[in-house]
Amino acid sequence: MRTPLIAGNWKMNMDLHSARVLVSGIVSELPAVADKVEVAICPSYVYLFPMAKAIAGSPLQLGAQDLFFESAGAFTGEVSAAMVADTGARYAILGHSERRHTIGHLEDDWMIHRKVAAALAASLTPILCVGETLAEREAGQTLEVVTFQLVAALNGIKPAKASDLVVAYEPVWAIGTGKTATPQQAQEVHAHIRAELRGLYGDLADEIRILYGGSMKPDNAAELIGQADVDGGLIGGASLKPASFVGIIAAALAS
Ligand code: PEP
Repeated sequence: MRTPLIAGNWKMNMDLHSARVLVSGIVSELPAVADKVEVAICPSYVYLFPMAKAIAGSPLQLGAQDLFFESAGAFTGEVSAAMVADTGARYAILGHSERRHTIGHLEDDWMIHRKVAAALAASLTPILCVGETLAEREAGQTLEVVTFQLVAALNGIKPAKASDLVVAYEPVWAIGTGKTATPQQAQEVHAHIRAELRGLYGDLADEIRILYGGSMKPDNAAELIGQADVDGGLIGGASLKPASFVGIIAAALAS
């Protein structure tokens, strides 16, 4: 039995005031999730500490949007896994497509692998993002690309338990575009990811959560999360408004 996870990726949005308003809106509209759905928010690094304070006593958990793989040293501007863990964060989004492709960081699979290892060493749970571009999908390479990213990131890494690792399937063409994978497209890739995880980790694969990300909204969340291997969502735009974020959480609760 996998507990769905709904994680909000705030990206480079919000100021301190609007972040506090958003959290209090989410908390006040949140249905009773108890242990049926886990919910996390992933603000910018600079808001991790104040958001840790803002969510205290609520069911919300905290995540970072990235981390650096070295533990200390002359890496100006970078933030280590231990620093992220010090804020009270439990999760770290790693390998997001905006860091792989569009921001200019051009993160490669080796860097992402090292980040996954650093996160686990600091007792953080990586939310490892994988996904194909539109050109790759149109060339029929989706499953191959996802396998490569997954195996490269996880090579040699052994999570002790399923809750140590979350994978997010995020087709690049669906992120922030309003285009969503159909539930069937999502399920096909999620089932493939689970099969690859089974090859790496045996039966543990049945317990590892695989999230879908890419223009998930309250009106498409139920059908996506209703798929057998879709265990929640990584939510960008719709995580910035209490009503839409809570609407997705409600869909996960009903799944
Ligand atoms: C994301 O950035 O991880 C994401 C899924 O964004 P959006 O929901 O806006 O497509």
